[in-house]
Amino acid sequence: MERRRFIKNIGLAGAGMLAGSYLLSSCQEKSMGFPIKNWVWITPEANLPMDTWKERFEELKKLGMHGAIVQVYASHHAMYGSDFLPVTEPLLEKLIVLGKETGVEVHAWMWTMPNNNPYYIENHPEFYAVNGLGQPSHTHPAYVGYYRFMCPNQPGVRDFIVRNVQTLASMEGLDGIHFDYIRLPDVIIAEALQPVYNIVQDREYPEYDYCYCQVCRDMFREQSGIDPLKDLEDPSASEQWRDFRYHSVTRLVNQHLIPAARVNGKKVTAAVFPNWESVRQQWSQWDMDAYFPMLYHNFYNASLGWIGENLATQIAALKNPVPVYSGLFLPSLTPEELLEATEISLQAGASGTALFALNHLSDYHKTTILNNLSNK
Ligand SMILES: [Zn+2]
Repeated sequence: MERRRFIKNIGLAGAGMLAGSYLLSSCQEKSMGFPIKNWVWITPEANLPMDTWKERFEELKKLGMHGAIVQVYASHHAMYGSDFLPVTEPLLEKLIVLGKETGVEVHAWMWTMPNNNPYYIENHPEFYAVNGLGQPSHTHPAYVGYYRFMCPNQPGVRDFIVRNVQTLASMEGLDGIHFDYIRLPDVIIAEALQPVYNIVQDREYPEYDYCYCQVCRDMFREQSGIDPLKDLEDPSASEQWRDFRYHSVTRLVNQHLIPAARVNGKKVTAAVFPNWESVRQQWSQWDMDAYFPMLYHNFYNASLGWIGENLATQIAALKNPVPVYSGLFLPSLTPEELLEATEISLQAGASGTALFALNHLSDYHKTTILNNLSNK
């Protein structure tokens, strides 16, 4: 969409919207032509009674939530039947049934590129992405121990992820598959997190820069005649090499993961970065049904206004116009700020919000949302 037209649309949306309106419970309300929907990310506790889940889903419905995005695979165990991954409990199957009973969409949230399954670490070291110093992520993960990212260009990696996606896609009644960590490691992490790790990233440094495995180097050399490790004095300065990494992730997403996921009416969505360049995640070029940018303003030392500015930029850049839901970080939002961030998001063209995460949704947040709904 052209920027001018977009700004005009913001103006129209703003004029028609009551200040402080929060979760719009009706799908008849529209933003940028899409029905407004609200979502919550859920990181499930183990072995919770189904009665508790039922109470939760019924409460979500009352709070104006349309969908639950449930983390059922976090790079090791599956919380659903799988013929090749270790299974903890078949939670997803039960939640699908509950979702139909309560009218809450259930989407399977899966980690994509990290792989912390000891079997693969031991038997498939070639799966793992390699940094600019030649260190593979399974032995030298960046920042945190679980940053064992796989390489998007290794055929075995593609087959592994596709197999997991196919398992989920075959589940009857599941509404969608939600991809997370569908990227390379952060070559530069968010500004507010750098002091946490006691680092200063004023430029791209090789220990955080991926992937320099032999497969990636060979592929790039065939395209460009350049070996990024041997021939580039400063690989971070090469636009061509940067684009190659963007395209590597995009190719995996568009040519393999989306076709595997989009069967039997499944919706395909992803949690994505507002500063996508830093994680080689050019999601504006992907073919998904919706995006959930994680607009965690506090990670970037930004104000609430930044949420709207970033949304406007990302929505304008999309190759295909699809709904974008504003991912909001509850631990950094008072209930009043949550209402304000929601308002800002809708005015910037978001088709609703996604709250991170259910366990941070306090009683105070819930009361504020309910009061706001009843005032409409
Ligand atoms: Zn590679």
